[in-house]
Amino acid sequence: MIDTVALPRPYQNYVYAYPHKTAYRPLTPRPAIADLWSGESTSTLSLYLHIPFCEVRCGFCNLFTRVGAPDGLTGRYLDALTRQAEAVRAALGDTEPVRFANAAFGGGTPTFLEAGELTRLCDIAEHVMGADLRAVPLSVEASPSTATADRLGVLAERGTTRLSLGVQSFIDEEARAAVRPQRRADVEAALGRIRDTDIPVLNIDLIYGIDGQTAASWRLSLDAALAWRPEEIYLYPLYVRPLTGLGRNVDPVAAEHDWDEQRLRRYEEGRDHLLAEGYTQVSMRMFRRLDAPPQGPDDYACQTDGMIGLGCGARSYTSGVHYSFDYAVAPREVRAIIDTYTATTDFTRAAYGRVIDGDEAERRYLLQSLLQADGFSVAEYRGLFGRDPRDGFSTELGSLAERGWLDDAGSDRLRLSPRGLAYSDAMGPEFFSPAVRAAMAAYEHR
Ligand code: SF4
Repeated sequence: MIDTVALPRPYQNYVYAYPHKTAYRPLTPRPAIADLWSGESTSTLSLYLHIPFCEVRCGFCNLFTRVGAPDGLTGRYLDALTRQAEAVRAALGDTEPVRFANAAFGGGTPTFLEAGELTRLCDIAEHVMGADLRAVPLSVEASPSTATADRLGVLAERGTTRLSLGVQSFIDEEARAAVRPQRRADVEAALGRIRDTDIPVLNIDLIYGIDGQTAASWRLSLDAALAWRPEEIYLYPLYVRPLTGLGRNVDPVAAEHDWDEQRLRRYEEGRDHLLAEGYTQVSMRMFRRLDAPPQGPDDYACQTDGMIGLGCGARSYTSGVHYSFDYAVAPREVRAIIDTYTATTDFTRAAYGRVIDGDEAERRYLLQSLLQADGFSVAEYRGLFGRDPRDGFSTELGSLAERGWLDDAGSDRLRLSPRGLAYSDAMGPEFFSPAVRAAMAAYEHR
């Protein structure tokens, strides 16, 4: 058992991107996208298309999405996505080669779209943006009930290399407790349909820390997932966040206090079980089967290369500005933002975002590298930023070392220890800049 007395709370902030969207603000005046991308390298970009629709709102979810899509809304959304793609592709210009090294459809639930709509989505990526979907890694998120044979057929035929299924738990009562009602039989059937395609990489998402979950029931979910020999498994700690289904029902302070030790224990059990079953740990959440096939060439570096996000929840990254649209979690606000997006005709300017100066770029690189199990090369870091991270962030890295969270990986490598990886969500915020912290603290959740 891990002693938590002298340590910070382990589950504070899942840093999957820095800075978080709650640090974005309206950009005034709104910069032209063509200006933002002028002079940027466009030879190794990532393309992300966001579909903000789900059949249900899971109790733990604070992603930008809405339940259902009445009155042809998905069609209008794809119309707007096409308009945005045309504007962005024109803004990228043709003086420099534009090449997408990978692509992803995320959400929400991209497979909420019907087969014909998924064809349209792939056409936007391929024919408007120019991504060669069959030649690069293409990842798509799905839910069990929307992973139908015809939709999977379209995705496989268009070059999907990775299908990620949000399962969360194979125990029906736990799924209900996480406000994601689904039956195990339906989950197993969806997994069978995915394995019937020739999509090479299956990812299964599981959650620990659900009300009523025990070591035995967690093991049962892990083994049910392992029975499919998925190439990847993500293990997520459950969070209670503002304005989510669970956030409305539970006192977050009391809940988190009771959960910390339980979640740490489930994390260790899950990690140890997957390592024993032939998986390697890529980050706190991600595990990859040791003999998983490669997804094809992918020379994209998430820490430094640019990203084009299309759709009203997607972010885009240039080296100097991160931008997106307005952000909310509460249903009425999300619906209003989607309605504004579908009515938009001029996509030539960025509306919300944050300027990324040299200091923020360095923090971002450090965070996104340090939170990977492999860590990063100090020499490469010095080549990019002109200094050793242990000089620039001596206080932060010093306190990680004191807590035993850094591995002795030699002088040229900074890497977390197993204990440090377990506390990934506690150390992330320590590297946020004062300005980003202040912006996040001032953000009004809505
Ligand atoms: S967790 Fe996934 S399926 Fe559930 S509401 Fe959020 S985006 Fe939709």
